Amino acid sequence: MKIILLGAPGAGKGTQAKRLAEKYDIPHVSTGDIFRANIKNQTPIGIVAKSYIDKGQLVPDEVTVEIVKQRLNEPDCQKGYLLDGFPRNVYQAEELDKISNVEKVIDIEVDFTKLLKRITGRRVCACGESYHVDFLEGKTECARCGGKLYQRADDNEATVNERLSVYQKQTAPLIDYYKKAGKLVVIDGDKAIDEVFEEIVNKLK
Ligand code: ADP
Ligand code: AMP
Repeated sequence: MKIILLGAPGAGKGTQAKRLAEKYDIPHVSTGDIFRANIKNQTPIGIVAKSYIDKGQLVPDEVTVEIVKQRLNEPDCQKGYLLDGFPRNVYQAEELDKISNVEKVIDIEVDFTKLLKRITGRRVCACGESYHVDFLEGKTECARCGGKLYQRADDNEATVNERLSVYQKQTAPLIDYYKKAGKLVVIDGDKAIDEVFEEIVNKLK
């Protein structure tokens, strides 16, 4: 199963990807997570990526596409994968088409006015799980692994506004790109997490 999760920042891609990867036993490949791991380890890629991520802009295509090509070449991705956060523009989609045959593109749609609140309230764990402060009831540890929750450096209001504008200009055209390819599945992401998950699973049947 080779799947892309498309959607604006905060639409719930990471939340659903974690659950779908477990259900279908395929790797969750998030370019954002790969960049954050590189930033943490202060690698050369991390140093370049951080300067763009902090501003809410896209990391240059040559860096991003190379990372994804290498990751999809690894043995665990041969049976399938769940791409989250890639591709983010038409050039990346074309490059992906050259190396792999994506089967379905799940576009998680959420009313734009709700995204800012979702993202600025997001708290994440190093294990990849994410939460929203509104539902944490003051808890500061991950319910899955006990890890300490923290706020992503780029989840502040100024950066989020730039990320949403980058999404509209550069990533949203992919909806049409994959519709024309006959691969697009649209999901209403404005429902509860479990309902969104159920809808995706039904549409993948
Ligand atoms: P993305 O990976 O698309 O940027 P996330 O999966 O990290 O988005 O979700 C962004 C925020 O919205 C998180 O705080 C998450 O807990 C919350 N969230 C995810 N899905 C839903 C949902 N269906 N309803 C309400 N909040 C959600
Ligand atoms: P995400 O974790 O998907 O919200 O991504 C966080 C940030 O990482 C984005 O705002 C971009 O700066 C960068 N990033 C992630 N994926 C890509 C990509 N496919 N192309 C360019 N930049 C990316």
